[in-house]
Amino acid sequence: MAGPPGRNKRAREIKSISRKEKKVAIISLGCPKNLVDSERFLAALISSGVKFTSSYVGADALLINTCCFIDDAKEESLDVILQAARLKATGELGSLIVVGCLGKRFGESLKREIPEIDLVMGLLKSELVPEIKQFLHNHKKKGSARPYARKIAASAGFLPEVPRLRLTPRHFAYLRIAEGCSNRCSYCIIPELRGELTSKPLEHILAEAEELASDGAREICLVGEDITSYGRDISENLTLARLLRELVKIPEVHWLRLLYTHPAHWTDALIRTVAEEDKVCKYVDLPIQHINDRILKAMGRKVSAGDIRSLMHSLRSRISGLYLRTSIIVGFPGETEVEFQELLEFVSEVGFERLGAFTYSKEEGTEAARMSGQIPEKIKGERLHRLMELQKEIAAAKNRQMIGKELEVLVDGLAEAGSGLYEARFYGDAPEVDGLVILSGDNLQIGNFYRARVTGFQEYDLCAEVVGAIK
Ligand code: SF4
Repeated sequence: MAGPPGRNKRAREIKSISRKEKKVAIISLGCPKNLVDSERFLAALISSGVKFTSSYVGADALLINTCCFIDDAKEESLDVILQAARLKATGELGSLIVVGCLGKRFGESLKREIPEIDLVMGLLKSELVPEIKQFLHNHKKKGSARPYARKIAASAGFLPEVPRLRLTPRHFAYLRIAEGCSNRCSYCIIPELRGELTSKPLEHILAEAEELASDGAREICLVGEDITSYGRDISENLTLARLLRELVKIPEVHWLRLLYTHPAHWTDALIRTVAEEDKVCKYVDLPIQHINDRILKAMGRKVSAGDIRSLMHSLRSRISGLYLRTSIIVGFPGETEVEFQELLEFVSEVGFERLGAFTYSKEEGTEAARMSGQIPEKIKGERLHRLMELQKEIAAAKNRQMIGKELEVLVDGLAEAGSGLYEARFYGDAPEVDGLVILSGDNLQIGNFYRARVTGFQEYDLCAEVVGAIK
């Protein structure tokens, strides 16, 4: 499920050092799925002998791994490209290479609009390493490379066990279990960009998870466009539930987290697995997008409002302590005020612990873009605001109920300099997307688990004090 890929707004700079050879830097934008692409690509590039720099100012080449799932993500990518183009224009940067969704989708026009771009490529796959090396070589030899664009085919499947250079803190990692999506929601461009569902073989995932665990990952977040479809393209016996039952056997892994599930593909076995397995976080990321039947049908979501309600009921009643995250699109073509009200009422009734909302973004080439009844931006913006105001109240009420409770928390790092506090998360907080636990305690170790008592909250974050260590 491509929930909100742009929700991780922070660009990451991929770091390594070089003194003598040409220096290359990378900026990775968008969601954790894009980040995994960057990590794999980076490892492949390094092992092919290319060197990196942590600073793109002064780099010989900068690769920008873009995202263009929705308008906001596109804008963020364009902003970063334009900043890099300015650096290039002033001679502070060598070549500018754009890769990822935006590159794949708008390659030729991007180069026309931003002439500082030297090379545009598609999704950042390890298969692109030779081409980028060739580009760098030509650039070196001739002083300036002839710019060219190349389109690559949508997912060609997984390379067997391509290593990755992780950009997340050592104690948590994203693990991509499938690539592409066969759901074809009417508003979504992802299947065009990433192709049909291609699941990674079970043994490859287990090997990668073991490697991540031995590299220090205590929390592993499973990602893919729709992880609940995992395995169906390989065998009817290969399911997410089965994968989870295997992953929990890895001793070092303490938390397994499910990101991007689809309401149409939850099974009884999966609910049972999440409920029974201690290591699987009682946290479910379940984008519903809407609740009105007419809109769900127009979106091609393959579920009715009744199906969603009954799934919510099963999840809540069978998984104790469940934290539910959803994402919602407001202002889908034809959405009436009455239909939007229905959505608000549903959100209020369910009380999602976490909720991300987006205004509908008209993506060229999708079925929804051709639909009549496109909603003016102003109305979409107002609806988004009303929904988020409601969610703010729900989140505050949920956080208030947490005061006095004891939680197991994982320390991510130090909070603001000089505050003496730490940033941590409990199972209800996915990294980089949800709130935090602002933690007080002495000499806490980053990447370790502690027991903490909740003392208060600030908007979406909890405040807590350590009451003991967890081995
Ligand atoms: S087609 Fe639907 S399920 Fe697939 S990535 Fe897009 S929104 Fe998610």
